[in-house]
Order: sequence, then structure tokens, then C-alpha cells
Amino acid sequence: MMTDVFPGQSSASALPKKESAASVMIQSIVAHLYEQQLGNLEGSVADYIPELGKISPDQFGIAVALESGELITAGDAANEFTIQSISKALTLAILLDLVGRGETYRAVGVQPSGDPFNSITLDPRTNRPFNPMVNAGAIAIAGRLRETLGPSAFEQVLTRMSQAAGRELRVDQTVFESERETGHRNRAIGHLLRAAEVFTVPVDEVLDLYFRQCSVLVTATDLAIIGATLGNIGTNPISGKEVFGIHTVRETLSVMFTCGMYDGAGDWACQVGLPAKSGVGGGIMGVVNRQLGIGVLSPRLDAAGNSVRGKLCCIGLAEELGLHAFDSTNSGSNFLRGMTEFDQL
Ligand code: GLU
Repeated sequence: MMTDVFPGQSSASALPKKESAASVMIQSIVAHLYEQQLGNLEGSVADYIPELGKISPDQFGIAVALESGELITAGDAANEFTIQSISKALTLAILLDLVGRGETYRAVGVQPSGDPFNSITLDPRTNRPFNPMVNAGAIAIAGRLRETLGPSAFEQVLTRMSQAAGRELRVDQTVFESERETGHRNRAIGHLLRAAEVFTVPVDEVLDLYFRQCSVLVTATDLAIIGATLGNIGTNPISGKEVFGIHTVRETLSVMFTCGMYDGAGDWACQVGLPAKSGVGGGIMGVVNRQLGIGVLSPRLDAAGNSVRGKLCCIGLAEELGLHAFDSTNSGSNFLRGMTEFDQL
């Protein structure tokens, strides 16, 4: 079964034999950023979910996955941690694929809210959550997924997440239980959404799905591959499997760009200029459309809830490779093409 569903599991054999010039260059930039940020201990670990407070704050891993299927990693890129809010981008994509944008946006908007991620608020104009990246929006999405997919909703979500990562992912049961026991705000949000008839299934079943999706274990390498899958028009560049539809990808990346980085989204758009999503577990997933995916793990967070070292690494990568969407030279969009031509010389 593993071979059918995850043909890219033995990724080493699927990797191209010859290292591209792009890969060699990115390798040295990633190694430099890793060394540069290793001693940066600013920020603090999220501990409002008791089990999250116990993770080692010093973990630091960077991964970049290219459209060619090449992988570049540094540090703890193979360490597992819970995906948390980064899952929100994926459940949005899964619902968009299942029911389309019209149905999806009946449950949730796409406006940045400017409110904290766990705010118990609906958009007064629509009585729907502002966007799918705040908890209310993600719980609305979970509600619609539970309605559409029935009791096996989580298994189906996990399968899609696994296909995007190219390996079989699993839940951290301890973190899941810790959040289920203490997630009172999320429960309140669930009841608010149920009262507003955003979904009609029982709130507990919806929250079970939401807490489980947040507790899925990933590595920085997984995040880079998932990011590269989104960047590669929805096809995992290592396994070659189509995971998300083309329209879904455009929609998901747009929402990540405007709403993906908590209250720091505007600042991120200016400084990094890439669609990205962060999670309170310390992960950041970034996407360079049609080029590459970035995954970083570093659990110490800034005041906006984004990984301190993760953000600095993304700023560094964007600067060094000219990846910012609106860079004056826009060298980002030509970067790999230029390198491919170089390889062909
Ligand atoms: N499971 C977390 C919560 O609902 C996710 C938050 C996050 O990563 O931003 O509080």
C-alpha cells in the first residue's frame, strides 16, 4: 500500500543523479544562514498548549525542495514537530479541491483580520470567519470537511497531507490530547460557528478533526516538500503525484500571502514577499511559485507568533536568491531558469 500511495517514499532513488548548479548555490546559502542564526536564542516557545511547552527550544533545521526534486537541508531538518497552524493551508486546499471556491467561501472569507489568531470574532458583514488562516476560519473549514467527508474525514485529510509530503505522516497523540483537554477557546469558537450555522455537524467532532490536523508530525524537510508541491502547481516534485488542483493552488497561495503569518503578515509580505504559513510548533513553510518550497523549524517565536530564526532564514533566502515576489529585478522568477541554462552549458 505504501508503494502505491507514496511512490516518492524512497525519495533518494527518485532524486536526480547530477546536482544542479542551483542546488549547489542554495546549499552554500542555506549552510551560511544556518551558521549565522545558530546562536540566535531570541523569542520564546509557545506553552499555552502544555505539551508544546516541553519541546526543545534549541532545535533548528532548514530545508529547501526544488521543482527538480532536489533537496537541500541543514541542521535538524529531520526532527519531527507538530505542524499546528501550517495545516490550515492544507485543509483549505483540500476543501477547495473537494467543493470548489464558491462553496468554500460560503463558510469563510479571505480578508486579513488584523485580530489575533485565536480571536473569537466573526466578520460582522458576513457572520463568517475572516479567513481560513485564523483559528475560527480553520475550524469552519474543518466543519465543512467533516460534513463533506463523514467520519473518515481526518484519515482522508492525513492521506492528502502525506501525499503532499511524500511520506506517511502520523499524529502526535500526546500533543493532540493536550490540546483537546485545554483548547477551551477553540471549543468556544466551534460553538459560535455552529450557532451561526457555518456547519451543522456536532462541534466535538469538528474540533477532534481540527486538533488532530494540528498535531500531525512533520519535519522541516516535509514542509519544504509540501511547499514545493504547492509551488509545482500541486504536483509533488519528488513522487510526481498530483496532490492539489491548479485552481486550488492559486487560491491557497493567495490566502497564505495575505493572511499566513498571523499579525505579522503585512510585515512578512514586505520583508520576505512570499506566500508562507507558520505554526506555534515553530515551523514555517514558504513557497516560491513554480520554483521551490522552504521549510524551517525553530521553536522560539516572536511577538507575532512566528519563528524568530525561521523568519530570518526566509528573509535571508529571499534576499540572497532574489525571491521576493516584487523584487525590482524579479530575479527570483528567473533564478532557476538561469541556473538550468548554466547547467546545459
Ligand atoms: N493548534 C493551535 C491552536 O489552535 C494552532 C495555533 C497555531 O499554530 O497558530 O491554538
